[in-house]
Amino acid sequence: WSKQEITRARILDRQVDRGRTWLVQNARVFVGNGRIIESGSVLIKEGKIAEVFEGNAPSPDSLKARAIDAAGKTLLPGLIDVHVHIGGPGGFYTDASKYGDAKSIERELEAYLYCGVTAVRSAGDPLDLMLKLRKQFSTGEKLGTELLFCGPLFTAEGGHGTEYFKSVPEPMRSRLVNQMVRIPKSAEEAHAQVSELARQGVDAIKIIFDAGVPEIPFNRLDVNLARAVAEEAHAHKLPVAVHTAEARDVIDAVAIGANSVEHASEIPDATLAEMKRRGIAYDPTLCVFEAFTDLVKGDTSLLQRSLVEQVTDKQLMAQTEQMVKGDALKGMRDSASKFHISLDAAKANLLKAYRGGITLVTGSDAGNPFVFHGPTVQREIELWVEAGIPAEAALQAATSNAAKLLRIDSHAGTVEKGKDATLLIVDGNPLQDVKALSSISTVFFKGERVARSELFEQK
Ligand SMILES: [Zn+2]
Repeated sequence: WSKQEITRARILDRQVDRGRTWLVQNARVFVGNGRIIESGSVLIKEGKIAEVFEGNAPSPDSLKARAIDAAGKTLLPGLIDVHVHIGGPGGFYTDASKYGDAKSIERELEAYLYCGVTAVRSAGDPLDLMLKLRKQFSTGEKLGTELLFCGPLFTAEGGHGTEYFKSVPEPMRSRLVNQMVRIPKSAEEAHAQVSELARQGVDAIKIIFDAGVPEIPFNRLDVNLARAVAEEAHAHKLPVAVHTAEARDVIDAVAIGANSVEHASEIPDATLAEMKRRGIAYDPTLCVFEAFTDLVKGDTSLLQRSLVEQVTDKQLMAQTEQMVKGDALKGMRDSASKFHISLDAAKANLLKAYRGGITLVTGSDAGNPFVFHGPTVQREIELWVEAGIPAEAALQAATSNAAKLLRIDSHAGTVEKGKDATLLIVDGNPLQDVKALSSISTVFFKGERVARSELFEQK
């Protein structure tokens, strides 16, 4: 058999798996639109949600469906992470050749699906890598989370995003720059660059506003150039995500028409009101605030979460421990400490945004040190609840709000008739205890009951 024939056979097999009829019975259903059904059943047919029954459902036999009993469990829409970096492993390798390893990167998309995180948006990664992964995974050739991506970041010469390859030698450097960033010098160039990315099929545009800190300053993208980028993105119906650090970054992000504000250590009251009025979403990425705090302290407890241990490559785990315990990361830890990152301040900021009625979405910034790909939304929501956000609001942020921001709400984000049967079933009730989100019972992806333990063995 040729490789092409094997691929075709695999896709056909997957279509059969996705075409089966299932009835999930007796579940608590978190619909995602504000409704909770205490006891309901969900009929899955030809990859879609065919019906949602409240109370009694017809018998599985009469529906020609295979039954899954979900008594004592909760069924939710698949979780969504709106901010990840696929090219970063989340840990450290002592063996530098492992960075960018194709198998390890595919494993990340499998890890998300294993954890019921059924869609992620890359907020900055090499464009060619994104295009290749989407091709492999969206056809069903390989099974993994749904991948959306921004592609290259819009920033300034010497701006945030360019520091990663400052020390990379030519010609590798130019190649990386072209894959990772766009540095427009005029409004015309900004329009042309966005237009070209839209043609290549990106799902969103990412802009950086960040002047760094006095010890580690960044050049900041000119606001008028950023406005040209955002205008062109909107002309192509692409959402604009803006990386922000301090208050003036958020003010400018809102002024140029951002669809989501990422990170933000401070949001002024007037800007908060403006965000609410215009429906601009806030993605607080508490995971990365927590991870940076731990990195500075040399605390590796985030490696010991059960789902992280289940999905993360053993070599990556071991080498990360080794690097953190040794001196290898001293320079990185020193510079990380200069950013004065405070998880408590980030939590207070999120609570203020929630009380201000802002649309919230969940992003983790996975791929950064100690934010491992996979159970990201679970951890993000735990941190939100610690911050004082009700579990129900956090779950809505991770499902329907995130789906709307990513513009995938026609097929994802709620448990409603006609949407993709992409669902997560967990033991217990995450509305009472969000830790239940980590007790995964079953994951469905486009109607296929995912054989989770086999995900990492895909050839
Ligand atoms: Zn990021």
